[in-house]
Amino acid sequence: MFDQAIFTPTEELKNFREKVHDLAREKIAPQASLVDEEDFFNREVESLLWDHGLLTLTFPEEYGGISKNKSVALCIAVEEIAKYCASSALLLIIQAVGSFPIIHAGSADVRKKYLPQMSRGRKLVAYLVTEPHAGSDVSGIRTTAKRIGDHYLLNGSKCFSTSGGVAGIYSVLAKTSEEKGKSSFFLVEREFQGLSIGRTERKMGQRGSNTTEVFLDNVKVPAENLLGNEGEGFLIAMKDFDMSRPAIGAQALGIAEGALSLILQSLKEKQTSKNPVKDLAILQAIIADAATLIEASRGLVYRAAILYDEGKSNTKLASMAKCFSADIAMKITTDVIDALQVLDGYNSLRRLDAERMFRDAKLTQIFEGTNQIQRLVIARQMLKELMG
Ligand SMILES: Cc1cc2nc3c(=O)[nH]c(=O)nc-3n(C[C@H](O)[C@H](O)[C@H](O)COP(=O)(O)OP(=O)(O)OC[C@H]3O[C@@H](n4cnc5c(N)ncnc54)[C@H](O)[C@@H]3O)c2cc1C
Repeated sequence: MFDQAIFTPTEELKNFREKVHDLAREKIAPQASLVDEEDFFNREVESLLWDHGLLTLTFPEEYGGISKNKSVALCIAVEEIAKYCASSALLLIIQAVGSFPIIHAGSADVRKKYLPQMSRGRKLVAYLVTEPHAGSDVSGIRTTAKRIGDHYLLNGSKCFSTSGGVAGIYSVLAKTSEEKGKSSFFLVEREFQGLSIGRTERKMGQRGSNTTEVFLDNVKVPAENLLGNEGEGFLIAMKDFDMSRPAIGAQALGIAEGALSLILQSLKEKQTSKNPVKDLAILQAIIADAATLIEASRGLVYRAAILYDEGKSNTKLASMAKCFSADIAMKITTDVIDALQVLDGYNSLRRLDAERMFRDAKLTQIFEGTNQIQRLVIARQMLKELMG
């Protein structure tokens, strides 16, 4: 239905999109409403994603990753899955986000030890940055890592950790200096003594993703599990965003496309029924605007991902892709509910998919940096370019 040609430059990626689309439509879509209604993490879908190599896409090739176009491939997979189930798409994103500090900053020994556990051993990874007092302002984290001989002692509380309760490995950001903003990433195993899982959040959307508190109480972490050098945590987090924000954009894009498909399907059913809608003007405006915004979102998402894969700076475009796509997903899912009301009246209240997509869309405006923060990033990058 949507023209994807310019963003699937190779036959390989085109085939990849088709395969993920079929998997999402046939195996993931039928479970999306149940997962949302009953608010649980779906191990069956997790297994499917492992089986199809979708949870290691961004890993080095020898550990199940693809050889090139990693960011584009991640966006394609996320977009196709989010058309049917945003929660399942989020699992792919957090796996890429959480493993980023390990893949890009871990020592050769750490990578050799843990990447096989994560790929062949099928361990999920969570990304522990946010704390009750530090969300947008990452420099405000209070979790500490104190070096004692050959290890660090980690203490603190993390919240809103996607996959927090189901992961086997954690990338944890902690302060390694009293100086504000001087933080470092550590690889922490689930089995390390002192790590415990707190409350599981009951969220308004993406309820099939697992979101928990994680507590670190005198967790002894070997010094070699420091990822990168001391004090490089913030820098690693920023680089991770360049990869993850286009992917969140792709998730929002997929939600918007899924929502538009619902009206188109309903419109088709209505117009071939005995009681077609006579004046289509309102609906025409909604579908035309939605389709236009979706094309614009696709342009931003894949341009940002292509730049990332080419090793070029994409910070501004990555934020634009995330912010724009999340905002249009919110608008389109809202408009779709209006359109379904026009088409189906009272029956529209039963269209649970539309209502779920509306709730799922809202979260894309919040995580990986809220859309207010994305606007700050875009404006700061513009001023930087202006000043030379
Ligand atoms: C479903 C879900 C999953 C998540 N998964 C993870 C995860 O896996 N790992 C992780 O570490 N975190 C995760 N998060 C946390 C997420 O990244 C934070 O919620 C987000 O960064 C915002 O932080 P906050 O909620 O503390 O809001 P705050 O930072 O307290 O901000 C509150 C409001 O003020 C606005 N605001 C703040 N500062 C400014 C400013 N300077 N200018 C303008 N407006 C501003 C914000 O946009 C926001 O609307 C997740 C969140 C959700 C909802």
